[in-house]
Amino acid sequence: LVVLKNVNKHFGALHVLQDIDLTISRGEVVVVIGPSGSGKSTLCRAINRLEAIDSGEISIDGKPMPAEGRELAALRADVGMVFQSFNLFAHKTVLQNVTLGQIKVRKKDKKDAEERARSLLERVGVTTQADKYPAQLSGGQQQRVAIARALAMEPKVMLFDEPTSALDPEMINEVLEVMQQLARDGMTMVVVTHEMGFARSAANRVVFMSDGRIVEETTPDEFFTNPRSDRAKDFLSKIL
Ligand code: ATP
Ligand code: MG
Repeated sequence: LVVLKNVNKHFGALHVLQDIDLTISRGEVVVVIGPSGSGKSTLCRAINRLEAIDSGEISIDGKPMPAEGRELAALRADVGMVFQSFNLFAHKTVLQNVTLGQIKVRKKDKKDAEERARSLLERVGVTTQADKYPAQLSGGQQQRVAIARALAMEPKVMLFDEPTSALDPEMINEVLEVMQQLARDGMTMVVVTHEMGFARSAANRVVFMSDGRIVEETTPDEFFTNPRSDRAKDFLSKIL
């Protein structure tokens, strides 16, 4: 569903993505882990072209990612993204946050969009907050709304970049549970996270990055019990 072929990207002299080859199948959950600065966020941002790449190819569902314009907007709508900071529209209500893209990008009428929004808000467990503004919600609730907003676009794949790392500890699980459920429902997901419990239970595959390269790519079981590279061993010894 998502194919990266020989992707390279530089920030000036920094080679932030080096010969990245990665294929993500439909329904697969890929957890990306690695030290700070290893390129995990850049990889996510490259997948929906929030970040341009220098060379290589990225395709979504068989279609190459165009560089710009209308086609890019269309393809980007297929890729849902949830960031560490919740990025909700502050001056819109929760319900409006979840209907806006449906109306503007997916051209749905307001009634259909609201219907879908309410069912998604129910799915992420924030139905009672629909008419509030983001600032009136807890971090965990905001992040669940951000997930609902991304899902409203009917994405083919969801990218999560450290969705729980800005949350207070007691709110982490409520967000992870929504993600777990999404994974069980068959959503194709790329998840950058330090939540190893999530990686173990939800991931089909772990991709370990270091210095802009994919250093290991294996099952969570194999990765956590038998990491091959020194860099992965070192990383795991620090976080586990
Ligand atoms: P973290 O775990 O801290 O989020 P990461 O693995 O997500 O790290 P990236 O954010 O992808 O890492 O950054 C990889 C490298 O690229 C870092 O050294 C970072 O400083 C650099 N970098 C990221 N964005 C830019 C930018 N817009 N301009 C210049 N350098 C950047
Ligand atoms: Mg990052």
